[in-house]
Amino acid sequence: MIKEYLTKLNEDMLLKAKFEKFNCGCKAKNGNECKNCCCLLIAKKPNYITEFFDKNEAAIFISKDVKNYYDFLKVVDSIVLSKRRNYLIDVKSFVNEFLTIEDVLRAFVLREAFHNAKLYSSKEENRDKKEYKISLFLEDKKYLDFVNKIVIIAEAVNGARNLQITPPNVATSEFIAKVIEEDFSKIKNLKVTTLKRNEIEKLGMGLLLAVNAGSSYEPRVVIVEYNGNLKSKEKFVYVGKGITFDTGGYNTKGYHMEDMKFDMSGSVICAYAVKALAQINTKTNVAAIMMLTDNAIDTHGTVPESVIKSLSGKTVEITDTDAEGRLVLADGLYYGATKLNATLLVDAATLTGSMTRALGKTYSGIYSTSDKRWEQFLSSANKAYEKVWRMPLHEDFHKPNKSSLIADLNNYSNSEKSDCNTAAMFLKEFTKNVDYIHCDIAGTADNKGMGLGILVSTLFELGESQK
Ligand SMILES: [Zn+2]
Repeated sequence: MIKEYLTKLNEDMLLKAKFEKFNCGCKAKNGNECKNCCCLLIAKKPNYITEFFDKNEAAIFISKDVKNYYDFLKVVDSIVLSKRRNYLIDVKSFVNEFLTIEDVLRAFVLREAFHNAKLYSSKEENRDKKEYKISLFLEDKKYLDFVNKIVIIAEAVNGARNLQITPPNVATSEFIAKVIEEDFSKIKNLKVTTLKRNEIEKLGMGLLLAVNAGSSYEPRVVIVEYNGNLKSKEKFVYVGKGITFDTGGYNTKGYHMEDMKFDMSGSVICAYAVKALAQINTKTNVAAIMMLTDNAIDTHGTVPESVIKSLSGKTVEITDTDAEGRLVLADGLYYGATKLNATLLVDAATLTGSMTRALGKTYSGIYSTSDKRWEQFLSSANKAYEKVWRMPLHEDFHKPNKSSLIADLNNYSNSEKSDCNTAAMFLKEFTKNVDYIHCDIAGTADNKGMGLGILVSTLFELGESQK
């Protein structure tokens, strides 16, 4: 992966951007180059790389349809995946009216790390494969710290993706807790605490235990803490849904359970965002709470209509065992509010099918109890170039949660069409009125069997914005 950039040329072929321009008045002819446009003799096919061996240089033609950072990512992907030879990227040549130097550096570091990540695989390695590498060239040294920061984010994203993609018979609650303990112990200013079953019972996290009841594995609550600003009382606590496999429980999903190993994505996303913040020693106080268990069935599995007492003391009738994410998060949020003294609670969860129907695989759906916090979150997401869309918290959506005749709340209502909003209102009940942001990443956490580590960057930027 790219760890830094070169300030001097090396022997690799220097790759320059040539942007297509409208009505270029350039009179370049007979092979005379115009420095700024595409008039020199290169193939005018989008993302096509023309190579000039005599000069050890190449040029990529970038179509005028590329108008923003997101379009540009496709150009970067095509370079990273071209694999023809080693290229040295002339960073400055890629800067234009919609791309800053930072944008270009960020795009190359993140996409190169994404495509070349060493993720879990049980396939036999193809050892003959020739590996070509991409390096960055930029004379100006003042962006080295910035690139270092993006490298740390890229590694955090890949850490989360690696656990996301690991199969559920390997990545159990106990396994993930152990990996996090071992991986994070290398960062000396991070504190990792793991609560095991007896401590979880003593605390009274009844909802987590109810979801875990049919599991062959113990539940785990992993708390990752980084206190980088002891003078401040501000503390952001990220709570992650960590269902290592979701069968639905007794309200089983039936035959189709594709991608249910990704139901733990929220937990690793939260943890790795905090790790990255600790690695750059930012002046901020953040913690992650990973709520880990699978949702399985055996004779001890919680049956629908069971009534369970939560950590907060509120009772919940489990009207649907497949709405288990909001159960484990409820205990996690209350723990964050009361034991970690959060001033802002954020959760990340692959929570509801209805969110996927609302925002597809394009946007993560975000709820916020505070306009100010939403602005802070949105500007963090914009910095990270991750797409988020604000969703409504409204009392109307809470009515279905209060229809139980025998408990304070119920966790699902079959007649409620906008379950994503109802789930958000359910969770808000457990936040003790601490400012709260809920991120439903059901549609954005993974794609075609690949974990995407979505929101690691945003939660990193949010943590940074605390100072
Ligand atoms: Zn479920």
